[in-house]
Amino acid sequence: MKNRYDLIVIGAGISGLAMAYKAEQADMHVLVVEKESRTGGCFHSEVVADDAQPFWLEMGTHTCFNSYGRLLALLEKLGLTDQMQGREKLRYRMLADDKLVSIPSRLHIFELITHAWRLFSLQKENRSVGEYYRAITGPQNYNEVFSHAFNAVLCQPASEVPADMLFRKRPRNKAIMRSYTFPEGLSWIIAALADQLEIKTGQEIHSIRRTQTGYQVETAAGVLLADKIACATPVLAAARLLTTAHPEIAEQLNWAGEVEIESVGIVVKKEHLPLEPVAGIIAADGFFYSSVSRDIVAHPHLRGMTFHFKPGLLTDDEKLQHICSVLGIAESAVLHLFHKTNRLPAPGVGHHQLIAAVDALLTDQPLALVGNYFAGVAVEDCLERVESEFARIAP
Ligand SMILES: Cc1cc2nc3c(=O)[nH]c(=O)nc-3n(C[C@H](O)[C@H](O)[C@H](O)COP(=O)(O)OP(=O)(O)OC[C@H]3O[C@@H](n4cnc5c(N)ncnc54)[C@H](O)[C@@H]3O)c2cc1C
Repeated sequence: MKNRYDLIVIGAGISGLAMAYKAEQADMHVLVVEKESRTGGCFHSEVVADDAQPFWLEMGTHTCFNSYGRLLALLEKLGLTDQMQGREKLRYRMLADDKLVSIPSRLHIFELITHAWRLFSLQKENRSVGEYYRAITGPQNYNEVFSHAFNAVLCQPASEVPADMLFRKRPRNKAIMRSYTFPEGLSWIIAALADQLEIKTGQEIHSIRRTQTGYQVETAAGVLLADKIACATPVLAAARLLTTAHPEIAEQLNWAGEVEIESVGIVVKKEHLPLEPVAGIIAADGFFYSSVSRDIVAHPHLRGMTFHFKPGLLTDDEKLQHICSVLGIAESAVLHLFHKTNRLPAPGVGHHQLIAAVDALLTDQPLALVGNYFAGVAVEDCLERVESEFARIAP
């Protein structure tokens, strides 16, 4: 039957596309359904035409490392390895008391030395980010420097997040550059994956129902049938989708937290931005968590930066004014302005128990749950989950 699939994947972020690609490679008849008009989810590179070379700017995911072994294997399979481009190693600055300062200048060195030895003995398990890092950096360093850096990494208040979900240790592949991107940014990976798959974009799925042999999925374009479903949406969207077909799983997922991030990207001419090249800005207080700069790959004429704002505090106009005041530029200098709402899980104490309960309920079900709300939010964490879920539901 035309509308019947072995697997329907809901959500075309890296988790959904990687899951679908695995299924496709295993000769399954697979369809990806995405609610937005574009694929990629948190992978979102805006591209600006320019006479010299196109300029891209990351509105979400920005850094992939040589420790992301599953991602490297995927890039190899997609034939993208020879298109990888290195990134310059630059420093972050910190915005504190309305000034951009160097991060080392904010550190209390004596306190750091007298606490750092705990790094070798203290375990991350069963500790929050706040508990663990306060112990190894000292309370003043944690409050004035590290807490802001971790909030910036996770785009949310990070102190209550389980410590073992942040900076998961993985072996580096030293034959590959430490971090890398592609000619038009990281969405290059998404485009290569999407090329191999059947995808319906602009079709939000509201609910799925169990049938005798699998699932029925209702989209604006009609009803689709599948033997199996992979739900690859943010966690609360997954909870909503599963309310009818798997109410007990939906109930567990509803306990998970989620945050929204209002991301704003700007592009300016090089000569209009007085700030020296930086990796980005970590905000010690104020309206945004961090900004991520495009300076890591120099462009002949243009520079760009994406600011990740806390939700609900500023209007779009106020965000632009704030960006211009932080960077010391005139609003008229902004050549391009981009907006995106990003969504991330907000795991707290008890998150691992919640996921263990969800996994127990998934046993023997023709349903896979993939995404960034399992072991961690990094791209490699998503691919790790894809690997284990695909192994569970594969024919
Ligand atoms: C600002 C930011 C910066 C980041 N930087 C990095 C980084 O540098 N390195 C790193 O490793 N990780 C980074 N991350 C984390 C990482 O990018 C994400 O965790 C990962 O990309 C999530 O992928 P995903 O496919 O699981 O979810 P998403 O990318 O959120 O994709 C989910 C998809 O599901 C779709 N969807 C939702 N509901 C429905 C529905 N009802 N029907 C159909 N489709 C639906 C959404 O539209 C979306 O496309 C960053 C995240 C953010 C937000």
